[in-house]
Amino acid sequence: MSDLSSQWLQRSRSAVWHPCTQMKRHEQLPIIPIACGDGVWLEDFDGKRYIDSISSWWVNLFGHNHARIKNAIKDQLDSLEHVILAGFTHRPVVELSEKLHELSGLGHAFYASDGASATEIALKMSFHCWRNCGQPDKHRFVSLQHSYHGETAGALAVTDVPLFSATYAPLLQSNLRVTSPDARLAAAGETAADVALRAIADVEQLFQREAANIAAIIVEPLVQGAAGMLMYDPLYLTRLRQLCDRYHVHLIADEIAVGFGRTGTLFACEQAGIRPDFLCLSKGITGGYLPLSCVLTGDDIYNAFYDDDVGRGFLHSHSYTGNALACRAALEVLAIFEDENVLARNAEKAGQFNQHLTWLHTTPGIRHVRQRGMIWAFDVDNARSDFSQAFFRAMLDRGCLTRPIGNTVYFMPPYVLEDSHMRQLSDSTQEVLALLWQDSVASRSQQDTPLP
Ligand SMILES: *Cc1c(COP(=O)(O)O)cnc(C)c1O
Repeated sequence: MSDLSSQWLQRSRSAVWHPCTQMKRHEQLPIIPIACGDGVWLEDFDGKRYIDSISSWWVNLFGHNHARIKNAIKDQLDSLEHVILAGFTHRPVVELSEKLHELSGLGHAFYASDGASATEIALKMSFHCWRNCGQPDKHRFVSLQHSYHGETAGALAVTDVPLFSATYAPLLQSNLRVTSPDARLAAAGETAADVALRAIADVEQLFQREAANIAAIIVEPLVQGAAGMLMYDPLYLTRLRQLCDRYHVHLIADEIAVGFGRTGTLFACEQAGIRPDFLCLSKGITGGYLPLSCVLTGDDIYNAFYDDDVGRGFLHSHSYTGNALACRAALEVLAIFEDENVLARNAEKAGQFNQHLTWLHTTPGIRHVRQRGMIWAFDVDNARSDFSQAFFRAMLDRGCLTRPIGNTVYFMPPYVLEDSHMRQLSDSTQEVLALLWQDSVASRSQQDTPLP
């Protein structure tokens, strides 16, 4: 590493408290200073390039340094960067809200700046809506096993990733949890749809018992991301919509990670033919350029707040609500979807990357190879205890940025991925797995452990 790189690394380590990490680990594990990005590439200060196969934490859609998005933001800067949205409005926020209505069928858009805030808004709105309707006892929330909805206190209370939430248990509202429809749970001869139906039976039992106290159930449609890209059958969502209608429970679709084409359709809920009561969006909404999130609802929810009484209104706010630059970036992202036929092209790219990855299906020790839209994942059997770190580092050496979750390797690349990038990711993965298995062969041969 050059002097310049190591200077940024040292300064960052002492001044920046990095997210989602034990800082002490960075005594060994280097932090990588990034100088610039272009397309799928990130480049460090030594000119070494990495394929951003995780879209900079799932936010980037069309690559870095994208001319259209950049120019839209620059153009917006010349007229209005930001204005208070309480009592004021502006062109990008109006146009974006209308566009999102057209695309989702949900006509009322409430804005914030990050995903966790969108979760908070949906939870508060759901509870407040029932309260306005004379049902204040409906104050509990249901989430799925292995769910992830963000890190703020309300969002953590519906998150089931103990590594993130267990420490804060005394601070969190006690909520209800139902079985995950994770297709990997299929017994021999069972389909993903069978697993979904079993999981739905669990929801129905809970609703039968508790619906009088339940405001909403919150789900990550089709893919439970942070838990390790667990995928499930759309039938789960179709049936869940029916149960929510029957038992008067709101359905909150957290499409923060899966929205904007990630699962193959613009919104994942479309594959189940359903409309949620609340749709939470963020991450890809600005193509990874600026922080923005949004909760969409329909007239039924909105009308429950519309009244002469101020207290029946939704008095929630964030300083940067509806930021003009972010809304303008989001409008450009939606224009790109239309102009460049993104969903159809992604379907082709997904097929192409699947071709590159066929070797996964016949490699012993690799299980549950799965893909939906522009998300790929597989699990590694008998992984060594430091697998995710070792894999991360070895892939970096080969110019690929990946971030396995435990023993799950996944790719969630920008949609501008080309054949050569697919090849590099696939070949590097194959090499690195072989390397790590050789290492574990060496370390296990003394104990005579059977190998993958
Ligand atoms: C990332 C994520 C969130 C939280 O979004 P932040 O912007 O990180 O607060 C919530 N839900 C899901 C499904 C996510 O993937």
